Parts: sequence; C-alpha cells; structure tokens
Amino acid sequence: MSMNNTAYIGRFAPSPTGPLHFGSLVGALASYLHAHQHKGQWLVRMEDLDPPREQPGAAASILHSLQIHGLQWHGEVLYQSQRLDAYRAQLDELMSRQQVYRCNCNRKKIQAAGGIYDNHCRNRHIESPPFALRVKVDGQCIHFVDLIQGPQQQDVKHEVGDFTLQRKDGLFAYQLAVVMDDIEQNISHIIRGSDLLCSSARQLYLFDLLGATPPKFGHCPVATHTCGQKLSKQNHAPALVDGDATNNLWRALHFLQLQPPEELLGEDVKKQLNWAIGYANLNAIPQQMGIVI
Ligand code: GLU
Ligand code: ZN
Repeated sequence: MSMNNTAYIGRFAPSPTGPLHFGSLVGALASYLHAHQHKGQWLVRMEDLDPPREQPGAAASILHSLQIHGLQWHGEVLYQSQRLDAYRAQLDELMSRQQVYRCNCNRKKIQAAGGIYDNHCRNRHIESPPFALRVKVDGQCIHFVDLIQGPQQQDVKHEVGDFTLQRKDGLFAYQLAVVMDDIEQNISHIIRGSDLLCSSARQLYLFDLLGATPPKFGHCPVATHTCGQKLSKQNHAPALVDGDATNNLWRALHFLQLQPPEELLGEDVKKQLNWAIGYANLNAIPQQMGIVI
C-alpha cells in the first residue's frame, strides 16, 4: 500500500452480533475523537468472521446508528468476510515456516487447566480434521505503554501459551484477523474498550511475527450494568434508540468524563462532536473499568 506510514489512522471494529449499544458507542466515540484530535483518519471495519454469532441486519444497523450519531468514517467499510483468502494464505505461509501447528485438544480440558495451553500438540503429528491451528509462542515478556492504562506487560508464553489462529470449526480467530487487518489498513492507533486489554500482548506478538510495526493502543473504560457485568450484546445490552442520538452522545461524552457542557445536551450531534474535537481533554478519560451507568 502506498500510504504514509507515519499518518494517524484509527478505527472502530465492531462485530455484527447485535445493534449498537451504549458500550460500543463509547468505544466508537473515544476512537473517533482521538483520531480527529490528531487530524487523522477514522475507519470502520466490520468484524463479521463468526456467522453463528451474527445477527442478520446487525452490520447495517450498526453503520446506520454510527451515522445517526454523527460518527462518519473515512472511505469504505472493510468486511472481514471478504478477507478469508488473505487469512488462509497467511496461515499457509506460517505453516510452511513451521510457526503454526495442528491441535485437536479439547477446549474444556484446556479451560479446566486454567485456560493456559500447555503446548501439548507442538510435536504431535495430527493427520485428520478437525484440528485448530495454533501459533508457537516463544520469547520474552511483551511490554507496552497503553495510552490510557499506562505500562503493561504480559508473558504470553507462560500466561497464555500457544494460541489459536484458526479454530477447530474452521473459523479464523479474532487475533489473527484483527492483526492482519490492522496491518492491511495501516492502523496507527487502536482506541477501544478495556475488555480487550488482555488481547493486546498476543496481538503485539503477531505484529512482530508478521514483520509489521505495531500500532499504539489505548484502552478506555467499558460501560457495565449495575451488577458490574460488561454491557455487551451477549448480555442483552439495550440497543440505542437512534431517535435519542443527541442524548446518547452527550451521555457517552459524560461517561468518558470529558465534561460536556450542559448547554450541549439536546444539541445536534455535529455540534457536540465539534465541541469535543475542539475542547475535550482526552487525557481525562479514566482508567477504571466497571463504571456503573
Ligand atoms: N470486534 C471486536 C469486538 O467487537 C473488537 C475488535 C478490536 O477493536 O480490536 O469486540
Ligand atoms: Zn493441542
């Protein structure tokens, strides 16, 4: 690609498992504002990799809601479902470099062992499907400085183990697809919810394995139910009512502790976003998860 590698390019990467809800609006808004304050581009990528979990119409509904909330993206939306050949080719290449291997271990057994994979299949020869493909993890602890959460480290080798790049059911794993697409789209900054903080070290491992410069990460707090559970499509977070967009947007600015003035409440979304791009101090975004809404 002929893009300037030093340019700021951010993204929002929803999975179309349901309509946009308040938690995902907060993540989208934080990354949108960060990109615009840096005079960068903000892309949207639809992570439609897992058909059984998808809801018909959710992708279109999410895109519509983003637009209603004033969150217009640059260029075309990239759909992961259009990238399957690229994921397959990358896995073939890693296979020929002997960096991935076949595994037919039982998921329940791995979970029972604390979720850390013991690399059991590294030296086994598995002929017949079904099998997953795992990447060999070797090397040092991964360190990085998160733009919001500060210094982080994870010893992926010992805390995670060799991890899955293609699932036993044939679906490509989120970790592989997200990193390949962030490389393909020259993403320089990833601002997203802190429920994904624990994936970052694995992703940095893959950026390195694929020979790419990693982006900077910033993980913002995620909205929770009053019981402390993350607000997500899986636990039936209510869809945002598009007719309440101005109110939703103000609440999202408030949730991120960006101190939107009261006068902006009820104002047009474009006006609220312009205020936020011009004046909101993104350093004020708190670290903690679990703020109750
Ligand atoms: N598609 C993922 C999700 O909706 C987010 C991926 C990412 O931002 O890295 O949870
Ligand atoms: Zn195995």
